[in-house]
Amino acid sequence: MVQQLGLSRRAQPVQGDGADNHVSKKPRSFFIWTVGCQMNKADSERLGSALEQLGLTPVGTPGEADVVVFNSCVVRQSAEDKVASALGTVKPLKRERPETVVALMGCMVGPQTRELARRFPYVDLFMRPQEYRPLLDVIGERLGVDWEGCVGSLAPSHPGVTAYVPVIHGCDLFCTFCIIPYRRGRQASRPVDELVREVERLVARGVREVTLLGQTVDAYGADLPDGPDLADLLRALHPVADLERIRFLTSHPIFMSERIIQAVAELDKVCEHINLPVQAGNDAVLDAMHRGYTRGEYLRLIERIRRGIPDVALSTDVIVGFCGETDEQFRQTASLLQEVAFDKVHLARYSTRPGTIAARKMEDDVPETVKEQRLKALEELQTGIATRNNARLKGTVVEVLVEARDDGKWRGRTRTDKLVFVEDLTPAPFPRREGETAGKTDLTGRTVSVEVTHTSPWSLRGRTVRRDQR
Ligand code: SF4
Repeated sequence: MVQQLGLSRRAQPVQGDGADNHVSKKPRSFFIWTVGCQMNKADSERLGSALEQLGLTPVGTPGEADVVVFNSCVVRQSAEDKVASALGTVKPLKRERPETVVALMGCMVGPQTRELARRFPYVDLFMRPQEYRPLLDVIGERLGVDWEGCVGSLAPSHPGVTAYVPVIHGCDLFCTFCIIPYRRGRQASRPVDELVREVERLVARGVREVTLLGQTVDAYGADLPDGPDLADLLRALHPVADLERIRFLTSHPIFMSERIIQAVAELDKVCEHINLPVQAGNDAVLDAMHRGYTRGEYLRLIERIRRGIPDVALSTDVIVGFCGETDEQFRQTASLLQEVAFDKVHLARYSTRPGTIAARKMEDDVPETVKEQRLKALEELQTGIATRNNARLKGTVVEVLVEARDDGKWRGRTRTDKLVFVEDLTPAPFPRREGETAGKTDLTGRTVSVEVTHTSPWSLRGRTVRRDQR
């Protein structure tokens, strides 16, 4: 079966009920389905870039594609369920067109694929996160080319105004609830000069904002020979001409150093927004999660960040209903949210992830109904906080980098990562872009000053008062 699919020895084993009959066909098109975090989205973009460099064209549905990739997530049960149901849709397709290459990539794929191959026999390839090689080997062989000689940088070929740049892979921390270190492996940072070249390439393709990605992005560099840190990387990227904004995601409180805070404060292009997952507001729960900080330490860090970076926006992640979480412990999480008044909170209900420390050693003993109530209570609390935070912006002028046009409105983000819908009322700038007239300006990729006229907990609305001249 391996030979029929054209797999090299480096590839993962192949299973599939349609695989026995297929006729090797030159693949011309691909479809990638992605669920999960920004890192997964970046991985999909990078695989897409490699496939395009091999001459394949992206298409909008699996039915049109010769290569179908599902990039999976197992951080929560709901994400895993979505993957299983998406995979189910491709079964009839594989029966009809057995030559279609179907691959499952991402965090659902662990070191052992036997169980997955039994559940999804119509999937040809199982690839761990960022393990593109098995698929590229198959495609290369079907095309009769040495793909390694054809594929250069994996930076997206047709990026939008903003792009993700993975700077550190894996994670060396083992939070008890988290499966990621088992699936993405140990921390591995990419060298600074390689990242500068990649960002220069992206900017040459029209990108104006990059988001540096890592599971613990502020741990960047500790594994590299001369130990640069995230502050060094930000300073190295800052001079890239025509790059307007730099963001980074996701930080871990134990790595957020004064040097990083200072770099964000000093460097104009680095946006004043820090995502700093707290997960819980009670020391016993934080300890059970192996987060490595106490509530007090987290709050003092928030104070230092706010002192160092005026007008910084803060977002966080919270899990409710972790093993053993009592009502009182939950109330401390609520009080922490109240005290910090984050701009955004990503809330999740705890679900056991097989293979994690919590799954092996702790009891998932908070009833689902209680988890649901806690989740709802925090949603309501945070909606109120975000409503008040955003309402303060009404009447002010914010800088928006416009990303696209949706439903007749321009859409972009502030430096503080707030979503803004923009009505363009200013005359066309000079010099105009090709095809622009006074009433029909393409704002995509432009930075505009927007007066905020309406606010909601989730977004802002406003009208342009000024725009740049690019
Ligand atoms: S820091 Fe913790 S939650 Fe984040 S990826 Fe690492 S183990 Fe998972």
